[in-house]
Amino acid sequence: MGGSEMEDCLFCSIAAGDLQAKIAYRDEYAVAFHDINPRAPVHILIVPVRHIESLLELGAEDAGLLGHLHLVAARLARELGVAERGFRVVINTNREAGQSVPHLHLHLLGGRPMDWPPG
Ligand code: AMP
Ligand code: ZN
Repeated sequence: MGGSEMEDCLFCSIAAGDLQAKIAYRDEYAVAFHDINPRAPVHILIVPVRHIESLLELGAEDAGLLGHLHLVAARLARELGVAERGFRVVINTNREAGQSVPHLHLHLLGGRPMDWPPG
């Protein structure tokens, strides 16, 4: 992964503070921010600070990071008041799932009833 690809990455720019976003949570490993085009009353994106293109790029050594991202999602679900009523965590991967930003991100969606299966 070249440095220039990371410089061009939308979510790397947000994680670095170079591009503005409504930050909901931040620590050394993860940043969470409100989706610019929310599909539910609560729609947060949780991303690793490190540039990782997708779930497919993770190895066994990243299990802790992946777990951490989910724990951040659960924490935010509680903080934003959707934990008890219910919420969804989604990772879109590659074309048919609709991944439009090639930097791993968890969608935290809540605050309305949801269909199953997703469209
Ligand atoms: P996906 O389609 O799963 O790759 O999700 C990408 C998400 O990023 C979409 O829900 C977009 O609305 C969201 N998004 C794109 N640009 C921004 C931005 N600058 N700030 C916040 N969310 C964004
Ligand atoms: Zn990135």
